[in-house]
Amino acid sequence: MAYKRVLLKLSGESFGGGRLGIDPIIITNIARQIKAVLAAGTEVCIVVGGGNFFRGAELSQHGMERARADYMGMLGTVLNCLALQDFCEQSGIDTRVQTAITMGQVAESYIPRRAIRHLEKGRVVIFGAGAGMPYFSTDTVAAQRALEIGCEVLLMAKNDVDGVYTADPKIDPDALMYTELAYTDVLAQQLKVADSTAISLCMDNNMPIVVFNLLKEGNIARAVAGEKIGTVISN
Ligand code: UDP
Repeated sequence: MAYKRVLLKLSGESFGGGRLGIDPIIITNIARQIKAVLAAGTEVCIVVGGGNFFRGAELSQHGMERARADYMGMLGTVLNCLALQDFCEQSGIDTRVQTAITMGQVAESYIPRRAIRHLEKGRVVIFGAGAGMPYFSTDTVAAQRALEIGCEVLLMAKNDVDGVYTADPKIDPDALMYTELAYTDVLAQQLKVADSTAISLCMDNNMPIVVFNLLKEGNIARAVAGEKIGTVISN
């Protein structure tokens, strides 16, 4: 049974293909996958990360003040939003970008009821600038937006793994992928899915998370259709 409304979390890393900046081939592929999901009648909103530009915590290790570095990180997410908007619109997908930091010339402000209206009209809403607050991550924002916008599931797309593993599969060839996990397992074992704030928010509000591989063509549609791919995290 397909979900009616989903929140897709895309990391900045996936936009850059592991490098600084954006990779047009990858973003074209993402847009194509989103188009297929819309055609099947599911409403899609997206939270975009910014790790392909700046991460506040990393910049602060080089001497920058943390809050300012975090604002740079948030602005980086907006660059990705505009890139995704462009590739989506080139593919014929109607989109709106809403940012948590007001920047009227480039995007709408985050207005939840307006976002819901856009979704009802078949538009994809792309949320940028995180929560507009330092010390947060875009994973936490993804959980918050999924809850506030009334999504049924948080689809956590990864660009290098198929799901959540017992160990890092790139280092440990014996690592096994979990098909199901409880939020408490993720927190207790400190599994690298999302930060603990994001997991706690989902746990406290029963928001299921599906972790899956973005780069396998058609995987977003499979996750939306409720097919058993990747790892499902729930209570
Ligand atoms: N960020 C922030 N507040 C937020 C969301 C993001 O300060 O609400 C900053 C933070 O510095 C973070 C950066 O923006 O490192 C990029 O976001 P994130 O690391 O979550 O991106 P991803 O890892 O998904 O690419």
